[in-house]
Amino acid sequence: MRIVPDKKAPPPAFRMTPQRAEMLRLLDGNKCHPSAEELYARLRRKFPGVSFATVYNTLQSLLSTGDLAEVRIDPARARFDPCVTRHAHLMCVKCGRVDDVKAPARPPVPAGKPAGYKVLHYSLEFFGVCPACGKKAGKKEIRSCAKKKKK
Ligand SMILES: [Zn+2]
Ligand SMILES: [Zn+2]
Repeated sequence: MRIVPDKKAPPPAFRMTPQRAEMLRLLDGNKCHPSAEELYARLRRKFPGVSFATVYNTLQSLLSTGDLAEVRIDPARARFDPCVTRHAHLMCVKCGRVDDVKAPARPPVPAGKPAGYKVLHYSLEFFGVCPACGKKAGKKEIRSCAKKKKK
């Protein structure tokens, strides 16, 4: 008997392989908002033969089931977040570190919205300089104020 796949069914056969299990472990509770490249690099430490396609496909499966969120705060690359409850992000413009911050309870009302325009959702992104980069920049500034010095 042939089973005709339902069109609405999730992407075909999410096979649980050791590589995928490791990837789920890497993502579980991960607060670093890793990119696909970072996950690939970490996965390769344990499975040197793993392909980028495995990482990509696993991410796509998790996104399609709603177990993973794609974070678009970083213009350089998509970042991934296993925390799918509502929250906002704060990114360091120097090192790309992304932290979770609480989203406001009520969404802001956009001023100047054309009449009849129905707003469906919004995203809130914060950019700044993280404490580690702030310290580095501070030191550099003090030095460069007096005289330009190379490390
Ligand atoms: Zn930083
Ligand atoms: Zn997050």
